[in-house]
Amino acid sequence: MDGRQQDQQQTHHATTVVEQGRFCLARCTCGWRGPARRARSRARTDAEEHVDAA
Ligand SMILES: [Zn+2]
Repeated sequence: MDGRQQDQQQTHHATTVVEQGRFCLARCTCGWRGPARRARSRARTDAEEHVDAA
């Protein structure tokens, strides 16, 4: 009778770009981290590619 609602929980990928010193890198709630980039736009691209690949 009870539904199996636990199975409906999916891994959520929410990315943010954080600054670390002179570099920027992308982070995700799943634990993934992108490489350090000089350009913030690069880090954003890394994040987008990660979400697409996930
Ligand atoms: Zn992720």
